[in-house]
Amino acid sequence: MTFRVYLVEDEANLNSLLVSYFEREGWNVTPFLTGESARQAIPTSPDLWILDIMLPDIDGYQLISEIKELTPHVPVIFISARDAGLDRIIGLEKGSDDYLPKPFLPRELAIRARKLLERMRPSASSIEATHPITLPPYRIEPLRRIVTKADGQIELTAKEFDLLMLFAAQPGRAFSREQILVQIWGDAYFGSDRVVDDLVRRLRKKAPALHIETIYGFGYRLASA
Ligand code: CA
Repeated sequence: MTFRVYLVEDEANLNSLLVSYFEREGWNVTPFLTGESARQAIPTSPDLWILDIMLPDIDGYQLISEIKELTPHVPVIFISARDAGLDRIIGLEKGSDDYLPKPFLPRELAIRARKLLERMRPSASSIEATHPITLPPYRIEPLRRIVTKADGQIELTAKEFDLLMLFAAQPGRAFSREQILVQIWGDAYFGSDRVVDDLVRRLRKKAPALHIETIYGFGYRLASA
C-alpha cells in the first residue's frame, strides 16, 4: 500500500528536498508551507504527520494538539532546530510519537517514519487476526471467515468480511474512503471510491445491528461500544 505522509515545513528548500526523498521511498507526500494550510487538512487524516515546530503562522505545538484531538490514531514526528531538549519534552507531552532535531539526514527521518508507518499498518493486526471477535450480537471467527449471531450464520462476501474485520480491529477509528479502498482492494484499484459506499451499504444491510457511522465528506467509522 502507498503511505500518505503530510509534511509541514516552511523552509521551501528543505521541504522540497524531503518531498523528493520520500517520494523515492514510494510514499505519497503532501507538502505544506504554512501551519494554517496544514490545520485545514487535519480531518483528511494521513498515515503520518511530519511537523516542523517553528512555523510563520501557527505554533507547531498548537498544531499537534489539534491533530491529536481530532485524529488521535495518526502518528506525528516533530522536527525542530530550536532548543532541542525542551522541544523534545514538550513535543512528547503533546503526544508526538517521535522527535528529530535539525539538522538531520533525510535518511534518518525516513527510517523513523517507516518505523511508525509499519506500526500503524492496520492489516497486520486486523486482517491477520486469529481470535474470535465479539461485536454483540455478532461473533466473528477470523480463521474460518464466518460471522454468526444467535439465530445462525450471516453470509458475507469476501470484501464484506474484510471490511468488517477492518472496522472490528479498530472500533471508533475513522477511515477515509481512500483508506478503505486501499485496505480492501489494494493499491491496484483505480476505480471510483463509490465502491466503498456500496460495500458499506451491503454490510449494513446484512449486519444491521452494527453501528457503522457515516462521516460526511470523509468516510466511515464503527462506533465503539
Ligand atoms: Ca521552520
